[in-house]
Amino acid sequence: MSSAELFARAQRVIPGGVNSPVRSFRSVGGTPYFVERAEGPYVYDVDGRRYIDYVQSYGPGILGHAHPKVVEAVTRAAAAGTTYGAPTEAEVVLAEMVVDRIAGLESVRFVSSGTEATMSTIRLARGATGRNRIVKFAGCYHGHADSLLAAGGSGVASQGLSGCDGVTDGAVVDTVVAPYNVVPELDDTVAAVIVEPVAANMGLVAPVPGFLEGLRVACDAAGALLVFDEVITGFRLAVGGAAEYFGVTPDLWCFGKVIGGGLPVGAFGGRWDVMDHLAPLGGVYQAGTLSGNPLAMAAGRATLELLDADAHARLTATATRLADGLADALTGSGLTAVLPRVGPLLGLFFGDVPPTDFDEAQALADNGIYPQVFHALLERGVALAPGAYEALFPSLAHDDEVIEATISAAVEAAASVRVA
Ligand SMILES: *Cc1c(COP(=O)(O)O)cnc(C)c1O
Repeated sequence: MSSAELFARAQRVIPGGVNSPVRSFRSVGGTPYFVERAEGPYVYDVDGRRYIDYVQSYGPGILGHAHPKVVEAVTRAAAAGTTYGAPTEAEVVLAEMVVDRIAGLESVRFVSSGTEATMSTIRLARGATGRNRIVKFAGCYHGHADSLLAAGGSGVASQGLSGCDGVTDGAVVDTVVAPYNVVPELDDTVAAVIVEPVAANMGLVAPVPGFLEGLRVACDAAGALLVFDEVITGFRLAVGGAAEYFGVTPDLWCFGKVIGGGLPVGAFGGRWDVMDHLAPLGGVYQAGTLSGNPLAMAAGRATLELLDADAHARLTATATRLADGLADALTGSGLTAVLPRVGPLLGLFFGDVPPTDFDEAQALADNGIYPQVFHALLERGVALAPGAYEALFPSLAHDDEVIEATISAAVEAAASVRVA
C-alpha cells in the first residue's frame, strides 16, 4: 500500500492522519511519506524510496536508526516481560548513569515522555517553593502540558497556533512569557524559570553569551528555581548536556528523546533538597504505570553507553561539515541560507543573519522558502523535518559519504527553487 493510500486511510480514523501534528506536512504541503523501516542514517518508505534522514524522530536517534546494540538490548528486555509494576535493576542502573554524567544532579525520576517530565517538573518547582508563577521564553517548546503551551515553538508555531483551544485562562494565568535571550526581572512570586538552554524548537537559536549565566544569577537573587529543559540538549551537546557545555548548573533538569534510545521515555531530576518533595517522600504527587519501563530503560542504557566525549566530538564534526556544506550549497540562485550551530546541534534558516529570538526566527521561518527547499530535497532523497521550526538531527551513523550525498542533493535542490 502506498503512502498516499495509507494517508487517505489514516485520515479516516486518526485526526489529520497523524499522531503528532508536526508529521502532517500541513506547513510544507503534500502527503507525508509512511515509513516501512529504517537503518542507520536512512529511512525507507512504503513507496520503496530511501531518504537520508535528518528527522531521526526529532532527536532520539542520536546513534542512527536500529543500532544493533539498542535492538539487542530491547529484544532481550522484551523476552523477560515488558512491564511489571514493580521496580527493576535496569531503572537503578540508568538512574546511576544519569547521576554520574550530570554534575549537580543527585536524583532522577523516569517518566514516559518529555511532556511528562516538564509538567512534573513545574509541579515539583511549585510544590518545593510554595510559589505559583513560572517564566518561560517565547519560542521554547516544553511539551504540551496546559501551563506550558503559551507561545510555544515546534508544532505550536508551525501549525499557526498562537495559543491553543482548550487551554483555559486559569491554566496559563501563572505562566509569564518572556523574550528569549533577555534575562527577565523576577520577583518572589516566581517558582521557576524554564528554558531550553539552546532553543531547538524555533529552528535553532543559540543562547547569547551571558544569557544562561544571567538566568542563574537572577534565579538565585529571587529564590526561584532554574529549570533546564534538556529534552533535546541532554546527552547530545556533551556527556553532561548543556549544563556541562555552558558551565551553568540549573536546579532541575528535564530529559527525553536521547535518554530513551528511541523508546518512550522522559526523566526529570535535580538536587535532593528539591527532589525529596516528590511522593512518596514528600507531598508533590507524580506517578506512571509505565514509568521506568524495562524496554525503555534497556534502550536508554545501551544508548548512553555509546555516548562518550569522543562520540560527541565526532557528532560535532559531522554537524559542522553538514552546516558548512549546506550553507554553501543552498546559497546561490537567489537563496541565502544560514545554519546556526551549537556543538552537534544545527538549524536552517533562509536569511542572512541567525535569529536571536522568536520574532526573528518567525520572520525567517515563515518567509515561504523552507517548504520549497524541503520538497526539493525530499525529491532528491534527503528528509528534513516537514516544518521550518525544527532543528536538523544528524546522527553518529551519518558518515562522510552520507554528508557528501546530502550536500550534492542540496546543490541540485537549490538550483530548482524559484525565489519570488
Ligand atoms: C520534544 C520536546 C519536549 C516534549 O517531549 P515529548 O516526548 O514530545 O513529550 C519537551 N521539551 C523539549 C525541549 C522538546 O524538544
